[in-house]
Amino acid sequence: MISLVVHGGAWDIPDELVDAHKAGVHQALKIGWSVLTKGGTAVDAVEKAIMVLEDNETFDAGTGSFINMAGEVELDASIMNGRTFRAGAIAAVQNVKNPITLARKIMEESEHILLVGMGATRFAREHGVKTCSQDDLITNRELERWREIQSRKSFSTKDAFRRKKVPIDTVGAVAMDYQGNIASGTSTGGTPNKYPGRVGDSPLIGCGTYSDNEIGGVSTTGWGEAMIKVVMAKTVIDLMDRNGGDPEKAAQDGLKVLIRKAEGYGGVIALNNEGKIGIAHNTPRMARAWMTSEMRTPLVAI
Ligand code: ASP
Repeated sequence: MISLVVHGGAWDIPDELVDAHKAGVHQALKIGWSVLTKGGTAVDAVEKAIMVLEDNETFDAGTGSFINMAGEVELDASIMNGRTFRAGAIAAVQNVKNPITLARKIMEESEHILLVGMGATRFAREHGVKTCSQDDLITNRELERWREIQSRKSFSTKDAFRRKKVPIDTVGAVAMDYQGNIASGTSTGGTPNKYPGRVGDSPLIGCGTYSDNEIGGVSTTGWGEAMIKVVMAKTVIDLMDRNGGDPEKAAQDGLKVLIRKAEGYGGVIALNNEGKIGIAHNTPRMARAWMTSEMRTPLVAI
């Protein structure tokens, strides 16, 4: 059994953006799936799928990320290997084209888990991870959004999230390979107009990403400040462990915890230790695509 699920955010995705979101997650799934079918590892599949989404300007990750209050792009990402229990993550990092690749390098070539800011960029340079200019990451769409926000008297991310109108376009993937190994990863530009240095849930192991070969893997998207409060990804893993390994039920129950305890909104992708996939969101839409070796064709939904 091999299995892969990817997401491209969960929010009130407007009709005119539906096709781009669907095409983006479908493309990422195809790339990740070809890694798995050729015998590649779950970690490889997750990294490759997320790179496709980071390079796609539709999503708030890598190129096309939100711009912070200071007019800069700061990126967060994490990846976890459910076999070795190793993880790598970066937060508030500038000038890196594919944050998920840097997170993987930290996982595999350092003794640390999370590097932030300039230290992470330095690690990228030392380890041959592609760096870039701020301009390479900033798109016209995000520049316009940023200018529009600056022209307002005030802007509250919390209020915007409650109205589900903030684009929650973080990306993520969870995979199981032929060896039964599980990996998951998440990558984001965070929230629009965030305070410089703000770190969300996505790079925090247990909040945005978690994998444990014995139970399953999870990646989340949503209002980070709420996700952190309920340690969302690990909560879903624990729920799955206790419910006999049902990823769909665990994802749904995790969202109930999120809304009850933290008034949070977002979505979850999960798979269990048999490669069964579960997806849930409490937002009007969630961009997602999935495939298992028991399916004939991939499914793409929004
Ligand atoms: N969770 C991300 C953050 O708060 C946002 C998102 O999922 O789009 O940084």
